[in-house]
Amino acid sequence: MITSRKLEDLHPTVREKALKMEKRCEAELGIDLVFTATYRDDESQDALYAIGRTVKGAKVTNAKAGYSYHNFRLAFDVVAVRHGKPVWNTSGEDGKLWQDIGRIGKECGLEWGGDFKTLKDLPHFQDSKGLTLAQLRNGEMVA
Ligand SMILES: [Zn+2]
Repeated sequence: MITSRKLEDLHPTVREKALKMEKRCEAELGIDLVFTATYRDDESQDALYAIGRTVKGAKVTNAKAGYSYHNFRLAFDVVAVRHGKPVWNTSGEDGKLWQDIGRIGKECGLEWGGDFKTLKDLPHFQDSKGLTLAQLRNGEMVA
């Protein structure tokens, strides 16, 4: 099972956008951005999908293997670190921080999980490059 947190495991152009976003979050929001997940292989994706279904816990994803941009090196998850502590809270002032991170990510050319309709995913950013997951599963090349 591969669950990477390394930016090197992302598609090069997605990595560039992630780095740009990280710099801007530092400069404009005064936080450090920590990457908690980048590339995830099929086995890891299925293990995650099982949580809240066949494994105890609250559901964390609606995506089976091949149904997440993480599986194609086009997505990453982040958390803000402020005064040395990760900010997992999403309400109140911290909610505003997540909105600011989302805005900056979008300004860097990424799609934000906070805009997802079904399962909102505030830490999640992706760059689909105009390709659907079905196209990616069929082996369409990513420029
Ligand atoms: Zn994600």
